[in-house]
Amino acid sequence: MSPRVLTSVVGGAAMPGTEERPDVNPSDVRDVVALASVGDAGTAQTALDAAAAAFPAWSRTTPWERSSILDRAGSEVLARADELGDLLAREEGKTFPEARGEVVRAGQILKYFAGTVLQPHGLALDSVRPGIEVTVTREPVGVVSVITPWNFPIAIPAWKIAPALAFGNTVVFKPADLVPASAWELVDILNRAGLPAGVLNLVLGRGSVVGPVLTSSPAVDAITFTGSVSTGRGILMETAATGAKVQLELGGKNPLVITGQADLNLAVECAIQGGFGSTGQRCTASSVLVVTEAVHDSFVEAMIRRMGSWRVGDARVEGIDMGPVVDPGQLAQDEDYLGIARAEGAEIIGGHRLEDVGEGHFLAPALAVGTSIDHRINKEEVFGPVMSVVRVADYEEALAAANASTMNLSAGIVTRDLAEAAHFRRHSRAGMVMVNLPTAGVDFHVPFGGRGESSHGPREQGTAAVEFFTTSKTAYTAPGTP
Ligand code: NAD
Repeated sequence: MSPRVLTSVVGGAAMPGTEERPDVNPSDVRDVVALASVGDAGTAQTALDAAAAAFPAWSRTTPWERSSILDRAGSEVLARADELGDLLAREEGKTFPEARGEVVRAGQILKYFAGTVLQPHGLALDSVRPGIEVTVTREPVGVVSVITPWNFPIAIPAWKIAPALAFGNTVVFKPADLVPASAWELVDILNRAGLPAGVLNLVLGRGSVVGPVLTSSPAVDAITFTGSVSTGRGILMETAATGAKVQLELGGKNPLVITGQADLNLAVECAIQGGFGSTGQRCTASSVLVVTEAVHDSFVEAMIRRMGSWRVGDARVEGIDMGPVVDPGQLAQDEDYLGIARAEGAEIIGGHRLEDVGEGHFLAPALAVGTSIDHRINKEEVFGPVMSVVRVADYEEALAAANASTMNLSAGIVTRDLAEAAHFRRHSRAGMVMVNLPTAGVDFHVPFGGRGESSHGPREQGTAAVEFFTTSKTAYTAPGTP
C-alpha cells in the first residue's frame, strides 16, 4: 500500500505543497509512514492571512464555545490513544508505552485548557482615586505562530495550541519536518471538533523556508517556539525588528547530583530513566551525573550493570526499553560527542552502533566516565542516549557543578538527607528541580521552563500560560458613567 499524502491545512482546506518528502520510520528506514506535501513561503503567508481573517470572530466567541471544542478534541485524542501512540512511536521512535503516554498527555492538556478558559482571569477593584472603578481583563493577543521540535510531536503542539485557542487567539502551526503525521492528526481532530475555518492552520514545510515568514511577518502577533538554542536565538533577533511577543523553550543541559547520602538503587533508576528514556532525546534529559567521591565507584559499577539489561530495539516491539535515534543527523551528532568526550580523556562505556537490531538508527546507551565539568561533553547539548559522570569531592562542589550549566532547564538530586535536599531545591539555578526523581517527567498544570539559555519569555503550561497567550487591559471608569 502506498503511503498516504499529508498536506498543509489552511483556512479549513487541504493545501498541497510543492514537493513530497518521506516521513521515515527510524526503527526501520524501509517503512515510509507518510509523504508530507511541503509548502513554501507562500503557503505560510496564506496561512497567516487565513488566521488573521478568522481572528475577529474567534476572539469574540464565548469561553464555553472554545472550552467545548477543546474538550471534544481531548476526548477524541484519549479515545484514540493506542492508534495515535502507535503512529507516534513509528514516526519518532520512542517506545510505544512512551508514545502512548505522550498522546494521553496531549488529551489531558486539551481538557485542562478546556477547564482553564472557564476560570476567572480578570480583576475588578477600587481605584486609589475616589469613586473610580478599575478592571483588569485578559484579551487574546491575535495571530500566534506555533513552531515545534520533533521530540514531542503531539504533546508540545498541544501545550501551545490549546492555550492559544482557549484564550481566543488564532494559530498557524508549523511542526518539525520529521514528524508531520502526529501534527496532522492533532490539527484534524481539533478542526473536526468544531473550530471555524482559519482558526487553526497547519503549515508543512522546511524550517528554513516557511519559518522566517512565520516569525518575521507583520501579520504575526506572537511566536511560541520550542527547539534548539541557535534557531531560537535567531527568532529572538527577528522579533527585535517586528516587536512580536515571543516565548522560547530551548535546549537543556541537565545535571543529576548523587550524593553520599543517596539510595544507590534509586540513583541508578533516576539516571537511567532520566538519561536514556525516549532515547535521551528530551530537553529535560539527565545528561551530567555529578557524583560525590563517597559513592562514585559503586554508582558507576551499578550503572554499568543496569545498562547491560537495557533493551534497545524497534520502538513498537513489546518489552523494549529504548527505541532508535531519530535520524542519521542526530546519530552522527551523538557519535561526534562521544568522540569529543574520548578525546577529552573520558572512558566511554557503550555508545556503539547496534547493526544487528534492525534497519534503524540504533545506538547502545553510552556513559562517559572520568569527565570534568568544563569538558565540552558537559557543556553542550548532545540530545541522545549519552550521559557523562563528573566526580566531585562533596555536596558543595556538586551544587557548584550543577549550577555551571548554561542551559539550566531541570536539575535533580538523589539524597536521603533532608537538609541537603532542601538546600539544593533552594540554591539550584534551574527552572525545575527534582528531588529523588529523574530530571525528566513534568506535570501539565504547573509552569514549565528553564533559566539561562534554556528559556526566554513567560513560562509555558498550567496557570502560567495565560501570561503569554493573553494581553492585559486595565480600564478605569469614572463615577456616574452609565
Ligand atoms: P530545531 O531548532 O532544529 O527546530 C525546531 C523547529 O524550528 C522545527 O519545526 C524547525 O523546522 C523550525 N525551524 C528551523 N529553522 C527555522 C527558522 N529559521 N525559523 C523558524 N523556524 C525554524 O530543533 P529540533 O532539532 O527540532 O529539536 C531539538 C531541540 O529542541 C533540542 O535543542 C531540545 O532541547 C529542544 N527542546 C526544548 C524543549 C523545551 O521545552 N525547552 C522541549 C523539547 C525540545
